[in-house]
Amino acid sequence: MKKETSLQSQLYLDSSNEELFQKAQKLGYEYLKTVFDRNVFPTEKALADLVHFEEAMPASPTPAEEVIRLLNTYGSPATVATMGARYFGFVSGGAVPAGLAAKNLATFWDQAPAMQVLSPIGSALETLVESWLIELFNLPKSTVAGFVSGTSMANFCGLAAARFRQLSKLGWDMNVNGVFDAPKLRIITGRHAHSTILKSITLLGFGKNNIEWVDVDDQGRVRPELIPDLDDRCILILQAGNVNSGSFDNFENICEKAKNAGAWIHIDGAFGLWAGAVAKLSHLTNGIEHANSWAVDGHKTLNTPYDSGILLCNDEEALQSALHMSGSYIVTSDQRDGMFYTPEMSRRARIIELWATIKNLGKQGIDEMVYGMCQRAQQFAEELSSIKGFTVLNEVVFNQVLLQCETDDITQKTMEGVQELRECWVGGSLWNGKKVIRISVCSWATTANDVSRSVRSFEKAHQMAQHLSAVQ
Ligand SMILES: *Cc1c(COP(=O)(O)O)cnc(C)c1O
Repeated sequence: MKKETSLQSQLYLDSSNEELFQKAQKLGYEYLKTVFDRNVFPTEKALADLVHFEEAMPASPTPAEEVIRLLNTYGSPATVATMGARYFGFVSGGAVPAGLAAKNLATFWDQAPAMQVLSPIGSALETLVESWLIELFNLPKSTVAGFVSGTSMANFCGLAAARFRQLSKLGWDMNVNGVFDAPKLRIITGRHAHSTILKSITLLGFGKNNIEWVDVDDQGRVRPELIPDLDDRCILILQAGNVNSGSFDNFENICEKAKNAGAWIHIDGAFGLWAGAVAKLSHLTNGIEHANSWAVDGHKTLNTPYDSGILLCNDEEALQSALHMSGSYIVTSDQRDGMFYTPEMSRRARIIELWATIKNLGKQGIDEMVYGMCQRAQQFAEELSSIKGFTVLNEVVFNQVLLQCETDDITQKTMEGVQELRECWVGGSLWNGKKVIRISVCSWATTANDVSRSVRSFEKAHQMAQHLSAVQ
């Protein structure tokens, strides 16, 4: 390659560049090897060291080696060890090594599977994985998949398709006529709908005040008998995996009836839909096949690296119409052009690590990994319940455990204590108006020993909290 400008000669691939990539790769791998043993949350020193990044906009180039050195020296210690085995905050998956390695390789390809002609490999793998997902979740054969950034975006796309279809049934072309004078649709969802559902509802112009809320039972499941009469103006939003309790709506009881009434059913299954791929847990998702759209993450339960959400939709025309785009320069093919299934035109080929993870695990591996998360969560609940002062509030049907102490104050201080001890990490939430500690087992790497070790940390934090609470 001829070096034409001075910047090109700096960026040019030569042996120093090769060293740079090898160095970055080596540092990354060292991180991965040590992430299981290090403190789960950054130390105070690591947080204070972030000051090393503070500077005015650099006027001139910095050598690439120095850029990587800075990241490794001060960036790496200030990461949260979600890739380790004892991170139980939010619902954060780890990453299966094959997926991570595939992502690494594909980073150099830098593919954008907007059109088949832009990335034949991206297009081929999207087509393939779409069919695998239909099989894993036992969905209708006509289902199509859009590979997006996460479930936030998958929820948005599913509800956009719902809006298009329900309005078109009422004789209204959403794309041409817009929302302002459109016939009014009815949005029905449970009190425990995830906040990203509300975000989609506002983005799509439905308005929160127009939601018909359905009360939930003590596990956060929609109470089927309280769902209002449905018709073909309705969009019913259900949940596979309550973000606190991990519970599943009663799809068997709800979906077929709702479908027959003409409602569009969207299921937010960010982490829970994967129960459907597990022999001993698939009863939790019985009935989901009657829905119209499903949102699920790769980066939670399946343990792909981040930036992997999937929208599944059994109304291809509604989805493509909702995400409609055209242009004289666009080259469509008789194969899959990914941009018709996602809001973006250009996007990274996240399908590669999703394919790699599924290919690596196979149905058997997915079954074992996901069921293992459920077993570890049940172990957590059992061991914690045997300690005086701890109460587990939920039925542990999947991977979530809700823990409460004697008082809100002790619950809060116990959670803070666990966070300070840095053996593991958990966050909090509110459940029936009371503070709870929320434990999510979501990594392939968590062992029975990791759970027991974390429980000891909980016990220690609880003793400290009781003491602090008593002396106040
Ligand atoms: C995590 C989550 C989301 C949002 O998914 P992202 O991948 O973070 O965008 C939506 N719904 C539920 C139930 C979730 O757990």
